[in-house]
Amino acid sequence: MAEQESLMNIEKRTVEFSPHSRNIFFHILTQCNLKCSHCYINPEQHGTTVLDKETIFEWLRILVESEIDLRQLLGPHVAPQVNIPKIPQETNVIFLGGEPTLNPHLPDAISEAQRLGCRSITVDSNGYLFHDFLEKVSPDQLDFLSFSLDGSKPAVNDPIRGEGVFDVCTRNIRKAVAKGFATSLIFTVSSKNIDDLPNMVPLLRELGIERFFIQVIGIRGRSAGDWASNLQVDRENWNRIVPEVAQEVASSGIPVTYPKVYLDENEEFACAGLVADNYFVFPNGRIYRCPLCEDYPIHSLEIGHKGLMPRPPVRESDLFVLDIPEGCVLNKILHPGNIRYDEHGRPESRIACCMLKEELL
Ligand code: SF4
Ligand code: SF4
Repeated sequence: MAEQESLMNIEKRTVEFSPHSRNIFFHILTQCNLKCSHCYINPEQHGTTVLDKETIFEWLRILVESEIDLRQLLGPHVAPQVNIPKIPQETNVIFLGGEPTLNPHLPDAISEAQRLGCRSITVDSNGYLFHDFLEKVSPDQLDFLSFSLDGSKPAVNDPIRGEGVFDVCTRNIRKAVAKGFATSLIFTVSSKNIDDLPNMVPLLRELGIERFFIQVIGIRGRSAGDWASNLQVDRENWNRIVPEVAQEVASSGIPVTYPKVYLDENEEFACAGLVADNYFVFPNGRIYRCPLCEDYPIHSLEIGHKGLMPRPPVRESDLFVLDIPEGCVLNKILHPGNIRYDEHGRPESRIACCMLKEELL
């Protein structure tokens, strides 16, 4: 599936799902000081517990050390040719929330992930960095301290993320960079800010950002409400702006990652739920394999005092195995408006897995 091409000095590639690394997206609480208009957190589905230190340590150990036999866990629906990893060679942990720095145990959680030998540790923050985070963690403990910003100026960012957020976030990025943290920035593209994306190029350079992630808005959590349905970006607008900005950012030496979204005719479709070792962990013990499923109680696994347990059907993995001409089955169910059909009723293009990314290095 990998596609590589050289564009002057820029290497472009489609990032393949690796069965050899385990990615743990660990939501250690769902509370947040902000109320972003596109927030995907859904406390009704994800719980409201602030995980204590013991629970974080125990769940980390289970998730990092387990030889998880996914074929056994996911049941008989999985096609025999599907290559499901059993023992990953490396584990990447991403601590998230809500706002993860609101959990006072985050610095200990980072130390524990280090002790368990995780290959990379990232924290995704909204920029507020509570509990003196920069004083309690050292730059060599984190691969990336990642900040979310949805505009190059307060007039664009703050209507989406909240008044005053741009100033706090950029101030704390500067502080983190000055202290030696490697920082990345996540920009969630919606109809409210796509025209501002080109203005991020000079800002990224000025802030000293080392990696840029462009995300597409997901119809989950708050953005799944009717009032927010106009946040989605259509294919023309995406193609008009995103690849060019990504190219410009990469030309200035900052690696960029953005979602593939549409597959070319000759590209194979793969569902990460079946071929990658990803765990989206929530404070109520739900573990999803696909982020698109997170608004529904169809998670694959549960974690708690009994360890890691498979859930009975119906669960997300029963959907992953459905082979449809539109590509991603969850997209077909949740975002049918994304798919266009020709006069014979065939989809004009297949929708890629939401976790398939393009990378410009
Ligand atoms: S910072 Fe993150 S968790 Fe908090 S409201 Fe915004 S999107 Fe939701
Ligand atoms: S986004 Fe679609 S293709 Fe990707 S894991 Fe979910 S169901 Fe599978």
